[in-house]
Amino acid sequence: MLHDLVIVGAGPVGATAALALADSELDVIALDGRAAGAIARGDRSLALSHGSRLILERLGIWADVAAEPDAITPIETIEISQQGGFGRACLNASEQELPALGYVVSYRALQAALDAALARAGRGIIHGVNVKGVSPRPAYAVVEASRDGGSLEYTSRLVALADGGSLVRGSTRRRHDYRQVALVGKVWPREPHRGVACERFTPEGPMALLPEGDHYGFVWTTSPARGEVLRSLSDEEFLRLLQESFGPCLDAGAAAVTPSFLRVEDRRTFPLALEFAREVVGARLVLMGNAAQTLHPVAGQGFNLGVRDAYELAQELLVTPRDEIGSREQLARYARRRRPDRLAGIGFTHGLLGIFGADASWLRWPRGLALTLLDALPIAKRAFARAMLFGVR
Ligand SMILES: Cc1cc2nc3c(=O)[nH]c(=O)nc-3n(C[C@H](O)[C@H](O)[C@H](O)COP(=O)(O)OP(=O)(O)OC[C@H]3O[C@@H](n4cnc5c(N)ncnc54)[C@H](O)[C@@H]3O)c2cc1C
Repeated sequence: MLHDLVIVGAGPVGATAALALADSELDVIALDGRAAGAIARGDRSLALSHGSRLILERLGIWADVAAEPDAITPIETIEISQQGGFGRACLNASEQELPALGYVVSYRALQAALDAALARAGRGIIHGVNVKGVSPRPAYAVVEASRDGGSLEYTSRLVALADGGSLVRGSTRRRHDYRQVALVGKVWPREPHRGVACERFTPEGPMALLPEGDHYGFVWTTSPARGEVLRSLSDEEFLRLLQESFGPCLDAGAAAVTPSFLRVEDRRTFPLALEFAREVVGARLVLMGNAAQTLHPVAGQGFNLGVRDAYELAQELLVTPRDEIGSREQLARYARRRRPDRLAGIGFTHGLLGIFGADASWLRWPRGLALTLLDALPIAKRAFARAMLFGVR
């Protein structure tokens, strides 16, 4: 049987693409190695922009995610500062006349809402299917997979790889290893966070506190060796160091206070690299989400780019005659459509790390100046807020 589209990997990005096509005439299936009701690689906090919210609203699942207690936390204020240097910028949703500057969303809750919406639409994900490879033929592609020890094959005009990057390797990808890890976890503050997110640039790398339900999700970028030490410290010692390294952060009343914490949970590290495919299309193939680009979490751009990959692919396929799906022309159109957004997201994230992530004391002064100007100039604030809301384009 020839499908129109086989989506490999129904994580949040693949499932978004499947849902965006659920009402169409197209024959679309989504395959995932995970079991029904499970998620890949544990829960985490996704930084969602207002633009991604609008897409999820259009697909009718924002309200489902929001119905889950603490699954979505609005970011009302973003405070940016640097350790050991002057300059501080503070962005406020009310100042920009917006309900929020962005959202922290639980991966588990988002995935559950997407899975349920697809099942309701009669387009349920085929679970437990481990894809081994994709081979192009002139008129279609063959997806080779296994399930319960048996081999399977699917043929499709087009295959969308949204597997998080597990199947795409090698010379078609560029990789920059930041030689750092992100230590992530949850901390419970003594005082309520009031929707304030704090980003602090330190000589070790950026640190962030993201409001999430009744606690903060934290991201601490550091060397792999120190990450291991921090991960295995006692809770008490870790909280003391986190507090010390973070330093003062704004509270909602705009007074700088050092946040203090009661409890820490779920400390984990993962390596940080920028990895992206030179081309997001191949023969009968498109790449989406982390399979197309894996970014440093510093600017919260990665997942939002993936949501736009999925939505834009669906929009492209909805206006493509069925027998042109997967053709060179259709693939070239999709690649052109995604190029500016991808390059801007990759360039912005990598550039930000070049200026703010480096341990170069001579950069402290220009960094401080940049933060002071950002704070003082309404036009700069609006541009930065726009980048947070809709991504850099
Ligand atoms: C440990 C960790 C922490 C993170 N923390 C943050 C954070 O704090 N904030 C943030 O914004 N982003 C974070 N990210 C990044 C974020 O998770 C990704 O941007 C997002 O998950 C990308 O979605 P995706 O659907 O492209 O890929 P994934 O979420 O990786 O989903 C891929 C899907 O494909 C399936 N799959 C994989 N291989 C196969 C195969 N061979 N056959 C069949 N199915 C397959 C998997 O089961 C999974 O369901 C983190 C990532 C990791 C790994």
